[in-house]
Amino acid sequence: MIMGNNVEMDIKKLLTPLVKMKNANISMSIKFGEAEGEEEWEPMGPTPMPKIPTLRHWDFKLLERYPPFYMPICDLCCLCTFGKCDLSRGKKGACGLNIKAQQARIVLIACCIGAACHAGHSRHLVHHLIEKLGRDYPIDLGNEIEVEAPIARTVTGIKPKTLGDLEKILDYCEEQITHLLSAAHTGQEGNYLDFESKALHAGMIDDLAREAGDIAQIVAYNMPKGDEDAPLIELGFGCIDKSKPVILCIGHNVVPGSYILEYLEDNNMEDEVEVCGICCTAIDITRVSDKPKVVGPLSRQLMFVRSGVADVVIVDEQCIRTDILEEVLKTGAVLIATNEKMCLGLEDVSHMDEDEIIGYILRNRAALLLDEEKVGKVAVELAKIVAKERKDKKTLPNLNEVVELAKQCTECGWCNRNCPNAFKVKEAMVLAKQGNFEGFIDLYKRCYGCGRCEAICPRNLPIVSMTTKVGEAYYKDLKFKIRAGRGPIKDVEIRSVGAPIVFGDIPGVVALVGCSNHPNGEEEVAMIAKEFLERKYIVVATGCAAMAIGMWKDKDGKTLYEKYPGEFRAGGLVNCGSCLSNCHITGAAIKIANIFAKVPLRGNYAEVADYILNKVGAVGVAWGAMSQKAAAIATGVNRWGIPVILGPHGAKYRRLYLSNGEKFKVKDKKTGEILEIEPVPEHLIVTAENVKECICMIPKLCMRPNDNPKGRANKIYHYVDVYEKYFGRMPPDLEKFVRTEKDIPFMMKDKIMAYLEEKGWKPLEKYPQDPTILY
Ligand code: SF4
Ligand code: SF4
Ligand code: SF4
Repeated sequence: MIMGNNVEMDIKKLLTPLVKMKNANISMSIKFGEAEGEEEWEPMGPTPMPKIPTLRHWDFKLLERYPPFYMPICDLCCLCTFGKCDLSRGKKGACGLNIKAQQARIVLIACCIGAACHAGHSRHLVHHLIEKLGRDYPIDLGNEIEVEAPIARTVTGIKPKTLGDLEKILDYCEEQITHLLSAAHTGQEGNYLDFESKALHAGMIDDLAREAGDIAQIVAYNMPKGDEDAPLIELGFGCIDKSKPVILCIGHNVVPGSYILEYLEDNNMEDEVEVCGICCTAIDITRVSDKPKVVGPLSRQLMFVRSGVADVVIVDEQCIRTDILEEVLKTGAVLIATNEKMCLGLEDVSHMDEDEIIGYILRNRAALLLDEEKVGKVAVELAKIVAKERKDKKTLPNLNEVVELAKQCTECGWCNRNCPNAFKVKEAMVLAKQGNFEGFIDLYKRCYGCGRCEAICPRNLPIVSMTTKVGEAYYKDLKFKIRAGRGPIKDVEIRSVGAPIVFGDIPGVVALVGCSNHPNGEEEVAMIAKEFLERKYIVVATGCAAMAIGMWKDKDGKTLYEKYPGEFRAGGLVNCGSCLSNCHITGAAIKIANIFAKVPLRGNYAEVADYILNKVGAVGVAWGAMSQKAAAIATGVNRWGIPVILGPHGAKYRRLYLSNGEKFKVKDKKTGEILEIEPVPEHLIVTAENVKECICMIPKLCMRPNDNPKGRANKIYHYVDVYEKYFGRMPPDLEKFVRTEKDIPFMMKDKIMAYLEEKGWKPLEKYPQDPTILY
């Protein structure tokens, strides 16, 4: 029997060359997963450093309640040379695999790619920072953050104190990813639920790896440490000073960008060269200094590069267009690839000195430079030279040329058919032929610049460039403000919101995360944030979603970051930072369990996740989720018991976790009774067809079995109110979530009672005071 650190064994018979024993009872203390030399900061829980099967029991509890729902995009498997195998209509592959297991296997592979991507990124950061600062460099997040690494504490049992401790955490992550990925090989796992359990494990590893990476960069670069007043940074095409040499950083890894900022500062050139970024690198360089500017999310990548504003483009890793080299060279700018994960076929010039590299790049226009320390001088000096060379370079057609190009359109409609969002490109062309740019103006606002329309156009019309030119002409003043990523949530904030969140007085925490694969531009994400800020939810954001929120202004010209405080409190808008910083969102939920409810963290995953599932009314919204990293992030969040809503494209991930909306069973820890309760939260991962549907799902998925009647009434109030606002009627499933009359908000009593009567609603006889699914 294992209890905490103690193991008790009844031995009937033991015969070894040294020991002979019969009917003995042995008790011993073992330090599970204890890091070498680590202090005993909390008694060790049951599951430190969990292996693939360790948390399987927890996963199966979740999967029983939220069975996977598959939407195969393709019935074929072509992963091995036995195949390709047709798995349609109940057929099995040559290895015996069925379509359900194959879908779950693809989800596992996607989550492993995502987890490996974040673990690789974090490993790079930690490795680089250890080389620079030493293994013993302390992890100090300041006096107000004592629980510095809630995920690491809960998953591994390690309380990291130095950069060297983060290395141990990443060793564990990498070992798990290897085992998980190997399970996807032909002739391994055959059961879909076990594939799902492995995907949940990969998601958890992804979460842990992100925490290690973000903590490393926060302490090493002195990024804000939970600072609710982190500076407001400039955002948008319009804030880039085109009269200066411009360096554009694209990707996720802050290291090369930080050397550029350091070189500029050391040489007093901060005002001479413009540094800007796209995607998470943009957010992270603004956590290092408030001087750089954020161009925008990933979706603005192609348009901004085409605009020709950048003189030097630095690419690091993740979410970069794979044809970036071709696009940059077309504008006359130069490109430096700085990361081994994206070498783009370029010559490695890392061994040369900086002046030689500058000469090489001026001759060849691009190079691979893996010694990031050299990037600072090389990028800045190159930008100064290239900017002079390209002074009069025109990269976009002018408006007259847009009209002439449009006249070449044959109106075949292939562009519309190839657009993932079926935007009306052809119609924009037809209008532009007459000098009317309305169609292109609309397209500019909504399009996410994938370029698929252009790639298919039989007339080779530069549709993205035409759209960019019209956008540039009609939106001259695209300037916004975003709050720099503040990093973790402070312990003191958790102390003040813990009780109101757990009992439902704060109606929920809405986390807007993920990529820019949303069909209607940035506005939809900002609208979701605005709706819930006005309703006094806590709104948390990261990555491209955090940027999208900043790209909307009210009638007074203010962005939501200027209107709402950056604190983790009701009505607060918290930008944690880049995608790595997503860990602070789950971290906040874990801290509520620990700081508010005193649930021990150390190696105690299932109890913490059970607490979050039953008591912490948080929901993730990945409205533009696109990548395998997003799949891993969402699946990791799910394993902690937090539901996630995906945008309409999310169905392409092939799998959701949906309940049938019938009653759930939980145990009341107070009485020991097993009770049937309302289905909350109703789903674990679900897509919404449109933004209205998403907004209406949020209050519902913030409900928890632990809500007290006042808190549940508050949540029901918002559920009914948003539904009436967006659909003009009562929610069609409201009766499921009203437990007794006490759950009915006073202001809506009459109409809800009339509705419930019509539905034949009966109150629940009992609901649990201390719900758990761990029984
Ligand atoms: S892995 Fe199995 S299902 Fe896939 S191609 Fe090979 S034999 Fe067919
Ligand atoms: S694909 Fe090209 S030619 Fe055809 S309608 Fe679209 S823009 Fe015109
Ligand atoms: S670039 Fe825009 S309009 Fe063209 S296919 Fe992509 S989303 Fe559609």
